[in-house]
Amino acid sequence: MDFSLTTEQQLRVGAAKRMVEDHIEPILDANDRDKGLPKAAVLKIMAKAAGLGLTSARIPRAGGGAGMTMLDYGLMGEQIPPAVGVILQTHEATTTRMYHGCSMEQKERYLSDLMGGQRITCTASTEPDVGSDPRGIKTSVSEATDHLVVSGSKVWISNALVCDVMNVTCLLTRDNGSSGVVRVLVDRAESDFETHELDILGLRQSPLGNVVFKECRVPKRNVCPDNGDTAKLLTLVWLANRPLIGLMAVHLAQKALDAARSYAGIRKQFGRYIGGFQLIQNDLAEIETAVLTSRLVCYNALAAIDRGERANGLSAMAKRYAVESCDRAIALAMRIHGAAGLSRELGLEQLARDVRTISIPDGTPGILSLIQGRELTGIDAFRG
Ligand SMILES: Cc1cc2nc3c(=O)[nH]c(=O)nc-3n(C[C@H](O)[C@H](O)[C@H](O)COP(=O)(O)OP(=O)(O)OC[C@H]3O[C@@H](n4cnc5c(N)ncnc54)[C@H](O)[C@@H]3O)c2cc1C
Repeated sequence: MDFSLTTEQQLRVGAAKRMVEDHIEPILDANDRDKGLPKAAVLKIMAKAAGLGLTSARIPRAGGGAGMTMLDYGLMGEQIPPAVGVILQTHEATTTRMYHGCSMEQKERYLSDLMGGQRITCTASTEPDVGSDPRGIKTSVSEATDHLVVSGSKVWISNALVCDVMNVTCLLTRDNGSSGVVRVLVDRAESDFETHELDILGLRQSPLGNVVFKECRVPKRNVCPDNGDTAKLLTLVWLANRPLIGLMAVHLAQKALDAARSYAGIRKQFGRYIGGFQLIQNDLAEIETAVLTSRLVCYNALAAIDRGERANGLSAMAKRYAVESCDRAIALAMRIHGAAGLSRELGLEQLARDVRTISIPDGTPGILSLIQGRELTGIDAFRG
């Protein structure tokens, strides 16, 4: 087993780092740190990300995508600040779902622009009463003579404020009284819906919003074909999403480690550098251990997915372990900084807010441990 990166992987990581330094950081700095990025800024980032294959990572080359391994995708994603990482991953994951689950005609209408980063997309599943348990969706789609009508609310939707087309999970009730979950593409250029910005703890530059569909007219051609595979498609993407989010936590904790290590070497108390105190060295050792083990558990899950192995437990483990370990690591780094750790100027408090925020999407820690437990025992603790 060789833990070193190949030359190609080193090049990918270097390219992602340069994109962050030359394009993403300047855009984040030029915009309000407490508000979702405006659409023009997101499109600029998308264009650069598309050039590196990050808007189509999971779409095979034969389908016009970048066809990356999940490990390579993770290595690159780890370099990107999570407020932007969530924008890109939401867009790319939705594009992947569309690639696998849309009709030929729908793909021809959307995929090229989405993979090229010229239009933005997202997935809207969560509702006020539907979170971890995806059953019980209430957003309805019904058939009128020449169009469809979508009614209901979606909450906590990444990219909601800036998207051009939204992949919306709806409940379709048919004429014979039967009902089923379908996906409907709601395109902002042809359908009218409201979005409201959310004001939350972290990832504040990510354009997260609630969505309201008030008898929203949608062309009939926008219902995705019913292959009975909505849940399968969501799972396909979730499996890799989880370690990819875990690597966002690693990005944050690595920054905390770099800051704490450097501060311990310049801050003096009791006539000595604080880095010379045993308790501070213990904290630094704990932080570094969290960064390294979190990174490895995420790489391991992504490599298992690349090998085609069942990775439900590994993927859940990776996100939960990485987010929780990195959360603690960031708290320790803040402690090493004393009062300075709390200042907005230094930015450690933002790392703490961001890591808390990424613990929720694509599986809360509790849900992830139940998924892992189900793999270990063969018993489904969700539904008995
Ligand atoms: C930053 C961010 C981005 C998001 N992006 C999107 C998006 O793009 N699209 C989208 O559709 N949604 C998105 N979401 C929503 C996210 O998927 C949900 O918030 C998540 O699924 C949890 O649902 P909930 O918040 O309703 O919590 P709930 O499901 O109500 O859970 C509340 C608590 O109960 C626990 N719990 C629930 N069931 C069990 C159980 N069986 N056993 C033990 N504990 C349990 C949970 O772990 C949690 O601690 C996003 C959320 C955030 C914060």
